[in-house]
Amino acid sequence: MSEDAGVYNYSAVMMGSPILLKLFQPDETLARRVFQLIKQLENLLTVNRSPSQVMAINQAAGRHAVSVSPAVYQLIKLAHEVSLLPGGCFNFAIGPLVKRWKIGFQGHSVPPADEIARLLPLINPRDVELDDAGQSVFLRHAGMEIDLGAIAKGWIADRVQDYLRTQGISQALINLGGNVQTLGFPPHGGQQRWHVGLQKPFAAREELIGTINVEEMSVVTSGVYERFFTLGERQYHHILDPATGYPLDNELLSVTVVSRRSIDGDIFTTLLYGMGIEQGSQMLEARPDIEAIFVTRDRRVVCRSQRLFDFTLTNPQYRLAQ
Ligand code: ADP
Ligand code: MG
Ligand code: MG
Repeated sequence: MSEDAGVYNYSAVMMGSPILLKLFQPDETLARRVFQLIKQLENLLTVNRSPSQVMAINQAAGRHAVSVSPAVYQLIKLAHEVSLLPGGCFNFAIGPLVKRWKIGFQGHSVPPADEIARLLPLINPRDVELDDAGQSVFLRHAGMEIDLGAIAKGWIADRVQDYLRTQGISQALINLGGNVQTLGFPPHGGQQRWHVGLQKPFAAREELIGTINVEEMSVVTSGVYERFFTLGERQYHHILDPATGYPLDNELLSVTVVSRRSIDGDIFTTLLYGMGIEQGSQMLEARPDIEAIFVTRDRRVVCRSQRLFDFTLTNPQYRLAQ
């Protein structure tokens, strides 16, 4: 724990990411319970070790359905729906490709084209069968794997927010490695909005492009600089294009989403990253509850729209654009 002018910071490393909990009264016990909750929830969803409900589903691929707890079933059902959106690149059946690339883990490599071609038929979300009555999930073909990496942190951030509320906490901030969720108003200096830093891509964490100012909101960023490896001239990052099997390649370096629930932020960062600014902005027109900030390779910052947040540019190397 560290204290700074009435802000009590509790930190840990979980899900391969730095986790930060900010409280405004010291409470070691509460912080420990929050980290325990995160661990428990992560253990349900991880694809890297037992005992995980998602791993049990994957291990039974091609053989039998697996019943899961109601909360995990609902999350899988949501991920399934989003994966079937026309024109979207979100695909929760992407597991075989994620495992093969190992981006962000030891042993990463660029798979040969024929291997990618062999894996592509195993990532069809339509081959995941859900049964509401039995709350069970069946992967039709051996070798299929679901991967909730694109939404796990958002889901967990919301559960932490709910938990803090039940504990009578009215002001707090939790940062799950890029998923920021806030509770109430910031308590200091009559300040009405939280200031969440928009990180400069490929720079030290403290280097910012600007600040995103919000009331009680989730702010989620997904960037190509979060997990990647470099080979020769090329960079390979961790958001894969289900159509090609290779990392999505476009003009974007990051997408940030402001929304009430962090699960929406996590879904939409991935979706919008795949769609790009133009198509993504069209999609957002139908969703006034979701707003976004796109950062491009040529250092433009595009905000859509700004009812839920305002943005302060602080880095002269970047410019605001439409
Ligand atoms: P992070 O918060 O770790 O930056 P994201 O929310 O951007 O992660 O999700 C990236 C993770 O989602 C990857 O590490 C992988 O597990 C999974 N993933 C990769 N490509 C896709 C995709 N097209 N659709 C859904 N999930 C994906
Ligand atoms: Mg994420
Ligand atoms: Mg995501």
